[in-house]
Amino acid sequence: MTVIAIDGPAGSGKSTLARLLAERLGFAYLDTGAMYRAVAFLALREGVALDDGASLAVLAREAHLTFAADGRIVAADHDASEEIRRPAVSAAVSEVSAHAEVRAVLLDEQRRIGAVQDVVIEGRDIGTVVFPDAPVKLFLTASPEIRAERRRKELIAGGEHVGADETLQAMVARDAYDTGRAVAPLRRAVDAVELDSSGLDIEQVVEAARHVVMARLGVGA
Ligand code: C5P
Repeated sequence: MTVIAIDGPAGSGKSTLARLLAERLGFAYLDTGAMYRAVAFLALREGVALDDGASLAVLAREAHLTFAADGRIVAADHDASEEIRRPAVSAAVSEVSAHAEVRAVLLDEQRRIGAVQDVVIEGRDIGTVVFPDAPVKLFLTASPEIRAERRRKELIAGGEHVGADETLQAMVARDAYDTGRAVAPLRRAVDAVELDSSGLDIEQVVEAARHVVMARLGVGA
C-alpha cells in the first residue's frame, strides 16, 4: 500500500491539498489533526484535565474514531465534525497531542489505516514518525500571515467571527507548542520536499505536488 505523507504547520493548506490529491489519485484521505482534535473535544466535554496523559489516552482509545467517506468524523458515537474546528478545541489540542500516551494510541490507528489502503495522510509527524518509509513526503509551508488569514476565513465560513490578530497569535502559539514538544515535534523529514504555498493558489500547489508524486511514484495525479 502506498502512503503519501503531507506535514506542515497550521493553515499551510495541507487539508485542501491532501483532499484534492487523494481525489485525483483515487487514494483514501486521512486528516490526523482531526483525530487529535476529536480527543481534545472529548476531553473538554468530559472535563478530563489536559495534563492527564493517561486519562486522555483512555479517552482516545475508547472514542473509536471513525471517518465517513465524506470526511465527517465520529467520536464516541457523536458526529463531532463541526465541534472539533471551534477555537476552544484549537486552543486545547496542542496540549493534548503532546502526550506520548495519546500519540501511541492514535499512531497505531494511523498505521492500521495506512496498511490496508493507498492513502494521503496529513499531519505533523507523518513523514518523520508515523510513516518514515513513505515513498512521497511533502512539507507544506506558507508565511504566518497568510496561514492566519486562511484559517480566519475558514472560521468565518463556519460561523465563528474572530479577528486577524487573534487568529495569528493563536496559530503562532500552537505552532510553537507543536514544534517545541519532546515527542514527535513538527519538523520536515530530511527526505521531504518542501513546498511554500504563500504566493500560490490551490491549483498551483496541487500541480507542484503532482510533479513530486510523479517523480517519486512514476504515476500522475
Ligand atoms: O492539522 P490541525 O491543525 O487540525 O491539527 C490540530 C493539532 O493536532 C496540531 O496543532 C497538533 O497539535 C496536533 N497534531 C499532531 N500530530 C499530527 C496531526 C496533528 O500533533 N500528526
